[in-house]
Amino acid sequence: IARTVVENFFATVGQMNFYDDHSLTTRELFEQFFPGRSDVHRLLMEPIAYANGSTLDEPAITYGIVFSNFMNKGVYTFQGGTDKLIGMMAEELRQNGVIICTGAKVDRIVVEGGKVRGVAVGGRVISAPSVVSNSGITNTVNNLAGREAFDSAFLDQFDQVKVNNSSCQVYFGLRPGESFDNVGDLLFTSTAREFSSDEMLDMETRSRTFSIYYPRTRPEHPDYTVVASMNGNYDDWAFLDKAAYKAAKQAMIERCFVDLERYIPGIRAQVDWVEAATPRTFNRYTLHTKGTSFGTKFEGLGISRSIFKAVPGLFHVGSVGIIMSGWLGAINYGVIVANDVDSYLRS
Ligand SMILES: Cc1cc2nc3c(=O)[nH]c(=O)nc-3n(C[C@H](O)[C@H](O)[C@H](O)COP(=O)(O)OP(=O)(O)OC[C@H]3O[C@@H](n4cnc5c(N)ncnc54)[C@H](O)[C@@H]3O)c2cc1C
Repeated sequence: IARTVVENFFATVGQMNFYDDHSLTTRELFEQFFPGRSDVHRLLMEPIAYANGSTLDEPAITYGIVFSNFMNKGVYTFQGGTDKLIGMMAEELRQNGVIICTGAKVDRIVVEGGKVRGVAVGGRVISAPSVVSNSGITNTVNNLAGREAFDSAFLDQFDQVKVNNSSCQVYFGLRPGESFDNVGDLLFTSTAREFSSDEMLDMETRSRTFSIYYPRTRPEHPDYTVVASMNGNYDDWAFLDKAAYKAAKQAMIERCFVDLERYIPGIRAQVDWVEAATPRTFNRYTLHTKGTSFGTKFEGLGISRSIFKAVPGLFHVGSVGIIMSGWLGAINYGVIVANDVDSYLRS
């Protein structure tokens, strides 16, 4: 492929933004630049499919915005682990006067007279002129505010929203004192013959990423750990009985071991902790509809952006619309919504 074609591709995706044409799909974009080159399409798409669950049939801008973010800044592994990062965020919030209540499930967002009045939690109502829900846009509308809070025009649009896929992960912990050589931080691997979004979602997918954590990644916990990540469909896992679910998790662990041994021979004998998480796990702990890992497909963003016009005082943040998903997307979107809330409260 001529260098100029590659450079033009980078320049084109680098200029894409939210206000561009939404009708061009990622598949069409790839065909424009790399016609018939399914190997190149795979190279470009497979890592992004893990990062936000998107497929070749989403609007090309969702690819362009996320891909150019990655290519501008690269992949960043936070040193110190998630616990440290969350601790830093919590500290920042407290310093700004925020009271954090954990273990407090919101049962309902109270809407009266067409406006938000607060939340019902643990048998009491906390009054508030605005509520910012982080519980997924589908949960927020269907289960927390309740469909009766919205007019039919809003609900017609809302009912078009599709949730994104979920994930599976397998966690491997090495026995203290065991180690392996540096094989990189993030390995994308697949023995599938060609790229297919459906193959990546299959329970027996042959496509996965390995995130490798060395003692330097978390100096406070100087261990070697590996996390295998796969995309997954909630419905494939949700309805298995206890024995079938356990067996399916065990089979997934075994497939991951086989793949991992190609990169770290002998790791099986070094590991003393293995456990698996599935779409059921993510649904259980995050409450997201069908355990979605990345919010909704693109159309969810418009709903999230307009929810406060439908019910004054009600806002939604968190993963939504592919471009606002992942940690970075959710954080960026939080800044945008915080600005809306600020304007609302001051108006
Ligand atoms: C397996 C997996 C791997 C991922 N890997 C990456 C990655 O490498 N990089 C990356 O950038 N992103 C990754 N993501 C995506 C990232 O985790 C999400 O995009 C991000 O966490 C979304 O933030 P959120 O605020 O929308 O939702 P969440 O982080 O899920 O937060 C929602 C919170 O709200 C709580 N909640 C829900 N309902 C209620 C209620 N009624 N009352 C009280 N609390 C409630 C939930 O318990 C949860 O704590 C991954 C996701 C998964 C599942």
